[in-house]
Amino acid sequence: MGRFAGTGLALAAAFILTTEAAQAAKCGGDFNRWLEEFKREAAAEGISPRIISQSLNGVTYNPKAVQLDRAQRVFSQSFLQFSDRMVAQYRLTKGKQLIKKYGSIFSRVEQQYGVPAPIIVGFWGLETDFGAFMGDMSTIRSLATMAFDCRRPEKFRPQLIAALKIIERGDLHPKQMIGPWAGELGQTQFLPTVYLTDAVDFDGDGRRDLMKSVPDVLASTGKHLMNLGWRRGEPWLQEVRVPSNMPWEQANLATQHPVSQWSQWGVQPAQGRLASGGLQASLILPMGRNGPAFLAYPNFRVYLEWNQSLVYATTAAYYATRLAGAPKVSRGKSEVAVLSYQQIKALQQKLVKRGYDVGKVDGIIGEKTRAAVRDVQKKMGLPADSYPTAGLLNKL
Ligand code: CA
Repeated sequence: MGRFAGTGLALAAAFILTTEAAQAAKCGGDFNRWLEEFKREAAAEGISPRIISQSLNGVTYNPKAVQLDRAQRVFSQSFLQFSDRMVAQYRLTKGKQLIKKYGSIFSRVEQQYGVPAPIIVGFWGLETDFGAFMGDMSTIRSLATMAFDCRRPEKFRPQLIAALKIIERGDLHPKQMIGPWAGELGQTQFLPTVYLTDAVDFDGDGRRDLMKSVPDVLASTGKHLMNLGWRRGEPWLQEVRVPSNMPWEQANLATQHPVSQWSQWGVQPAQGRLASGGLQASLILPMGRNGPAFLAYPNFRVYLEWNQSLVYATTAAYYATRLAGAPKVSRGKSEVAVLSYQQIKALQQKLVKRGYDVGKVDGIIGEKTRAAVRDVQKKMGLPADSYPTAGLLNKL
């Protein structure tokens, strides 16, 4: 965003933002007064007085939600650390059992939305252990608290409105809406805005119930993934072996080549065959050239839409390959050391000094940091696999 651009368009946008902010209930101050203002806002959004009082009367501020939000830690586990923990044996066994148990529902879901069972079960397992852990806080109370809190009210206010619309539609009663502090709902943890657009009544009882109805959960998750861009019948992720003379700078998410080109460079499937030669794919090395290697097909983008953390996305996609029958991932050529949060920040500061844009110096390795690492590796004549190591940090 051109924050300082003095164009007419930017000024117009700023003006609209200001008037919107004036109409919205102001954040902070006295919670009860804020709640009364928010009720008027909800009425202006078309929510009926009956639903507004049923859902919001007596709602109190929840300090625990704010505490949990502030205590959020930076996600700094490596792919192998995270996937060892998340793709545990019981999640594989149980996931496979559930694919069998709900086989007829899954085939209807795949027919309708194009998303196969292992993909849906993967999210179901990772998000809530198949519905076992969905959080224990009142969703309305959490969302009201977060919308009142002044840090990100613009993010949570539409979620609270969406939650009220879910109630008005008759899908859930406010008392049934129990979840984590950030307001996600149900067995695959939909934000209320997603619930509103993508939830489906698949068991035909007239309500979209993502808390209790497994058919509703599976179909809604399929529909959501379809809406995020899932391409029917195509693979998503495949483990590969990569030769040591690979042009390493090709290995990053932003670079795509047809499968035939990867084959020419000597990339081979760890098992089975690669997808057909014309399909585009990126080579991803979540722990650098000495760690596990995958071809990520266009469907992998859907995982990043679900969660932008590359480690989460790769783990969820890998879990689905395991549910679909792939063997355990190779741990790579040698034990790969992982930089600490402090080391990553130090690395980012050094890159900034050299004139690179790494986004925020935040201890998180995002796309910009990765690109800067790749460039600096190239300049130093190192294999440009975009993966920062302690060796690179020392050299800088
Ligand atoms: Ca239903």
